Amino acid sequence: MNKYLEKVLNEVTKKNFSEKEYLQAVEEVLLSIEPVIEKHPEYEKIALLERMIEPERIITFRVPYVNDKGQVIVHRGYRVQFSSLIGPYKGGLRFDPSVNQSIMKFLGFEQIFKNTLTGLPIGGGKGGSDFDPKGKSDGEIMRFCQSFMTELQRHIGQDVDVPAGDIGVGEREIGYLFGQYKRIKDTYEGGVLTGKGLSYGGSLARKEATGFGLIYFMREMLASNNNQSLKDKTVTISGSGNVAIYACQKALEYGAKVVAMSDSKGCVYDKNGIDLELVKEIKEQRRGRIYEYLNIHKQAEYFERENEDSPIWAIKTDIALPCATQNELTLNSAKKLVTNGVIAIGEGANMPCTKEATEYFLANNILLAPAKAANAGGVATSAIEMSQNSMRYYMPFEQVDNELNKIMINIFNSCKSAAKEYNLENNYVAGANIASFTKLAKAMIAQGIV
Ligand code: NDP
Repeated sequence: MNKYLEKVLNEVTKKNFSEKEYLQAVEEVLLSIEPVIEKHPEYEKIALLERMIEPERIITFRVPYVNDKGQVIVHRGYRVQFSSLIGPYKGGLRFDPSVNQSIMKFLGFEQIFKNTLTGLPIGGGKGGSDFDPKGKSDGEIMRFCQSFMTELQRHIGQDVDVPAGDIGVGEREIGYLFGQYKRIKDTYEGGVLTGKGLSYGGSLARKEATGFGLIYFMREMLASNNNQSLKDKTVTISGSGNVAIYACQKALEYGAKVVAMSDSKGCVYDKNGIDLELVKEIKEQRRGRIYEYLNIHKQAEYFERENEDSPIWAIKTDIALPCATQNELTLNSAKKLVTNGVIAIGEGANMPCTKEATEYFLANNILLAPAKAANAGGVATSAIEMSQNSMRYYMPFEQVDNELNKIMINIFNSCKSAAKEYNLENNYVAGANIASFTKLAKAMIAQGIV
């Protein structure tokens, strides 16, 4: 291995030994940019890698709120302001019991590369809390969001840091967060949060953007490999949240047959094809569980999750779209998918494939659309929402969707050409990392030692 890379990897591991997700994300990027580092020995002298992997700032804070029983509950809030190299920090907020510093740092780190790939002027950040919104009343959610924003407002602003949603943070939560920000700041700063409701500054097509973007990327990847398409392909999609639902919608529009979706407890397999309207009704309107699907479609089957391997990956499919969470697709599951003849994987979630699963797919020549590139449509559309807010203007759905489509085509082309330049054709994981690293390195050199 390149000596400089080896040194940086050893140092980052020593300094952050307990942060496994963050180390996994850093290692994946660093190993895949080795040919670029070989070509640029001057990077070592300016500690370019060391600066790129260290967050500019990490903020942690106390978030107390009163639940419906009158009890005071205290959670921990985070905002990782990773990089402002090419724009204000930008990245979602996640409310989930699994949230910790390692997960925040990995997501913030991934976000820099993803945002760079969009070609738009946005830096990288991430935040959230170990609060679990599941099973909470609207009042509890509102009080928690207000408490969270009471601290977060000191650190954000439309030209400073612009959070959005992620797991557990949807339009409802963004609304409560925005209301509290406005109340404290006494100013209507529309571009301070994205994923807002359409009645007060949100963008049409933002809700659909990550899922649609994933399918646009998949369409390009399939077309550039023997002119394949989504038509008549069988698709399985993990998760049944924002990303999964709109990936399903666009896949269906392109003539694919989606046969399975899941949530954290298990998956539904419907050989007749998933009834998306029912999934939307269960998940978006009632915040219910995916097994409720069987109340209407008796012919469908439900498989409960028993261990770290989600049962959804044992189902035979042409295309698998992990759209739930990090490390949800293990080596074991990757082997099942390959044995069952999968041709392409599209990462809707962030880092959903474990390191071993990724390596296995690449070694078996399975087309792999990496998260940084394939799910960048969400943040790209958030940037379009910020532009609309600055212009005091609303774009029609088709205009935003067309922009998104163009951005995803550009991202795909950047990944493809970067991989080709380094003789790594069809390795879009390396392509995405190299394309975005190259741009970040230029920006870093241009701005001096900061
Ligand atoms: P949602 O909260 O809307 O949905 C998350 C889905 O994943 C739910 O179905 C949830 O099931 C399931 N899930 C959560 N944790 C686990 C777990 N440990 N194992 C299995 N399933 C799980 O989130 P999003 O759809 O917004 O986000 C999904 C992924 O996409 C995340 O990795 C996020 O970072 C990434 N992403 C999201 C973007 C966006 O615009 N929303 C943009 C780019 C990336 P349950 O209901 O049971 O919890």
